[in-house]
Amino acid sequence: MPDHRMPVEPFRIKTVEPLRRTSRPEREKVLRAAGFNVFNIPAEKVFIDLLTDSGTSAMSDRQWSGLMVGDESYAGARSFFRFEAAVKRIFGFKHVIPTHQGRAAERILFETLLKKGDAVPNNIHFDTTQANIEVRGADAVNLVVPEAFDPDLEAPFKGNLDTARLEALIRSRGVKRIPLAMMTITNNSGGGQPVSLANIREVSRLLRRHRIPFFFDACRFAENAFFIKRREEGYGRKSILEIAREMFSHADGATMSAKKDALVNIGGFVTLNDDRLAERLKNSLIISEGFPTYGGLAGRDLEAIAQGLEEVLEEDYLEYRTSHVAYLGKLLEERGVPIVKPVGGHAVYVLADRFLPHIPRHRYPGWALTIALYREAGIRSVEIGGVMFGKKDARTGREVYPPLEMVRLAVPRRVYTASHLHAVADAFERVAKGRDKIRGFRIVRQSPRLRHFTARLEEV
Ligand SMILES: *Cc1c(COP(=O)(O)O)cnc(C)c1O
Repeated sequence: MPDHRMPVEPFRIKTVEPLRRTSRPEREKVLRAAGFNVFNIPAEKVFIDLLTDSGTSAMSDRQWSGLMVGDESYAGARSFFRFEAAVKRIFGFKHVIPTHQGRAAERILFETLLKKGDAVPNNIHFDTTQANIEVRGADAVNLVVPEAFDPDLEAPFKGNLDTARLEALIRSRGVKRIPLAMMTITNNSGGGQPVSLANIREVSRLLRRHRIPFFFDACRFAENAFFIKRREEGYGRKSILEIAREMFSHADGATMSAKKDALVNIGGFVTLNDDRLAERLKNSLIISEGFPTYGGLAGRDLEAIAQGLEEVLEEDYLEYRTSHVAYLGKLLEERGVPIVKPVGGHAVYVLADRFLPHIPRHRYPGWALTIALYREAGIRSVEIGGVMFGKKDARTGREVYPPLEMVRLAVPRRVYTASHLHAVADAFERVAKGRDKIRGFRIVRQSPRLRHFTARLEEV
């Protein structure tokens, strides 16, 4: 069971960034100018920003001092070797190739491996992963266990991959059309839910039997390892490093966005064992990212990632991190706000259609809640529901909606204190009081793909 007392931050604050409060009329003006889309709101007009945990971490004093000792040599920089050693210590693969962020790692990997008509299984593909697979004309296939879609089910590893469905996919597509399989830890698009080591082992065995390379999408590997330590039998006494190494020992490689569990603002990498594939990835890297000892990064970035990868393994940090996010979930539940359970590693997901039952799906209750939260308290969240994933049915012309209509409150790492979380919960309480008056939305302008980023809406 998670500990629900107020978690104490295992750090003190040495540098501060002032937050500005806005007035209600000011926020009203901002919303109109933004076309009622929180992506169009200038960050300066946001009081507490829970849009994403990606690239929004606070760096430590050691990471900041790493920026000063970064070696900016074009080739063979000292900072590269420190970065390479830090990645190898945890991941254990032979080759480490830096990239400017996670999706660049995905691009060079898929560009090299995928052909039209191929399939790539995953528990749930993150949107950039899916897009990088689909531009090659291949299929991104999601095979998460069905529990992932039951928001009330308190299961420990709702990120697991369904091995029966994986086996069926291998049988129907054939081994030759599956150049690699992936697993996302934690499962971001499935609520930040972890994957168990038992499941990793089972998936790995199956893939090895068919000689299909197995790659992790490892953005939140440390949060996943901590959940294994807490929830899986036999791991309670192991260190996070031991658990992470065991996880990666079952795979052939990994892609990673350092903007999550490497605790930095930019960066990524791909790491793998296969010599020939590594050679081909480096050739592709040189064309658009950079020489293989810097990828798309500065020496100082590599230095900060190396340091972040050490800090993220600290149990005090991970204990605080996961209980900090769970604490927000608990505060919301106490105020009667319906959320996805259990709370994942990096975010709380509010069930917006239950919170605003008077708004029908085609009036986008999740979107309405993101606007209500900003209007009430200057808090920025993101809709993960009908606007983000709604699709027009080609036959009926009607819009079809994803199973869950949610608002995600992603918590940046080491940035907000427990009292900020209380401010968020209090805002929800005020929004709940006037919820009957909250109105739905209509889309007035949208782009054909990823419309949530640019759409403009109006209240109805
Ligand atoms: C963020 C993320 C990516 C992409 O990484 P970027 O650094 O944003 O390009 C890929 N997979 C998952 C699971 C992510 O969370």
